[in-house]
Amino acid sequence: MHSTTSSLPTTDVVLIGAGIMSATLGLMLKELDPTLTITIFERLDVAAAESSDAWNNAGTGHSAFCELNYTPERPDGSIDISKALSIAEQFEQSKQFWAFLTEKYDVKEIQRFINHIPHMSFVMGRENVEFLRKRHAALTASALFKGMKFSEDQAEIADWMPLVMDGRDPDQTVAATRMDLGTDVNFGSLTRGMFYLLQEKPGVTLHFHHEVDKLHHNADGSWRVKTENLQNGQETETRARFVFIGAGGGSLPLLEKSHIPEAAGYGGFPVSGQWLRCVNPAVIARHDAKVYGKASVGSPPMSVPHLDTRVIDGEKQLLFGPYAGFSTKFLKTGSYFDLPASIQFGNVKPMIMAGLKNLSLTKYLIQQVRQSPNDRLAALREYLPEAQAQDWELAIAGQRVQVIKKDKKQGGVLEFGTEVVTAADGTIAALLGASPGASTAVSIMLGLVQRCFPAQSATPEWQARFREMVPTFGHTLADEPELVNQTRTRTSTLLDLVTPEQLGV
Ligand SMILES: Cc1cc2nc3c(=O)[nH]c(=O)nc-3n(C[C@H](O)[C@H](O)[C@H](O)COP(=O)(O)OP(=O)(O)OC[C@H]3O[C@@H](n4cnc5c(N)ncnc54)[C@H](O)[C@@H]3O)c2cc1C
Repeated sequence: MHSTTSSLPTTDVVLIGAGIMSATLGLMLKELDPTLTITIFERLDVAAAESSDAWNNAGTGHSAFCELNYTPERPDGSIDISKALSIAEQFEQSKQFWAFLTEKYDVKEIQRFINHIPHMSFVMGRENVEFLRKRHAALTASALFKGMKFSEDQAEIADWMPLVMDGRDPDQTVAATRMDLGTDVNFGSLTRGMFYLLQEKPGVTLHFHHEVDKLHHNADGSWRVKTENLQNGQETETRARFVFIGAGGGSLPLLEKSHIPEAAGYGGFPVSGQWLRCVNPAVIARHDAKVYGKASVGSPPMSVPHLDTRVIDGEKQLLFGPYAGFSTKFLKTGSYFDLPASIQFGNVKPMIMAGLKNLSLTKYLIQQVRQSPNDRLAALREYLPEAQAQDWELAIAGQRVQVIKKDKKQGGVLEFGTEVVTAADGTIAALLGASPGASTAVSIMLGLVQRCFPAQSATPEWQARFREMVPTFGHTLADEPELVNQTRTRTSTLLDLVTPEQLGV
């Protein structure tokens, strides 16, 4: 049912994908310049149905309070907290932007997406306990981590996380940290709320069922974006001055289609995930924390086991996982041809080299894929010794595509973070990778805007608007303890941050 290509009106900005990244960039750009026209294309029938959906991610407001992989131990035994400081600061920027939105726009769609859930780390064994003690000492020297508690006392830990301590050997060496300021975020409802706001603005059009399949760079620097309407096969073309590829797992194939030199050598490695979701309300009621453990040796950072209290659509939930898996799809709703189709002359070497350097990951994924329900229960019982199989059901999480890139020394490396790839002329940018992800969307977009709109960003008008959206913009929170207190007090009030008990769930 193919018809001829029609043209949509020329637009200033095209956003590809209706996930949290496009939502954040779109709103930020409209605040900076309300006259901008923005066209958004989304292949599905709703916003935030891939990684940004609440059930597809862990909903942790990543602040480095509990994620042990953000504080690696150096060879001399000291703890490197630089990444933790940066992630904590980035999450404070996100909260400020969300607080700005809730203060400026009184929209019910954007309320109650964030709640206080204490963030805890839990470790077993003498070596890990020593690591946690040193980590706690290093972090609490910074105002960003003030208030974090450390305990080796089984009774106190049982008070913090009763399910984790019930039935545990009283002689086992364990330790935990607790940070009450931790949060759980429903990124799906936040994203849908942000698109609601965006669509209300003049000059913004959102097209669902529209899959972008070609990108062409015109001689005048603008872009021709070709889409197919997946409902009727109609093809359209849109001309844009700036394109953001915010297609989550679908970003890599589109970046390749842009043919910008900066895209050369990038590849992607998909990792799927599964959770155990608790279905027993009595068990759910007994846990009020996000408890992160330590990834076992050789396993990738995204496999860190965690037991998460969530608040989704007003209901308290409990998840354990993620269990990793392997699928050649780049999106949960993608195609098994995604991975093979992404392999090109320019990235085949980095992909092979990264594969050879990461054989332990391959081994880990094979072992994870082969897990039986009993294996999964055994992994859960390391954290919940008294867990019962009938209280938990398997659920499929979102798909992540880890970044592979060229490396002079090693030929190719596998990265576990996010990466923004920008054309030299600033007319197109793509976001690859998935971690720390949605929590750092605001800081990622502040950086992207300054890189792609350098002249406007330097003007006093845009600088003032950056500070209006994110009052600590231009500051380094780790160096300004007073500002940490100020911003946390302000965002807590504006976001009406409460605990699930206060919410009555
Ligand atoms: C298992 C798991 C756990 C996670 N846990 C956390 C966490 O606890 N905290 C946290 O902060 N982050 C977490 N993340 C990461 C976070 O979910 C992602 O970083 C974030 O949601 C990515 O947003 P996005 O907008 O880039 O992509 P997405 O939300 O995936 O949106 C991309 C959109 O683009 C659309 N699209 C794709 N291709 C095309 C095309 N060709 N044309 C048109 N549309 C297209 C898709 O349909 C989709 O709607 C987790 C991710 C996973 C998978």
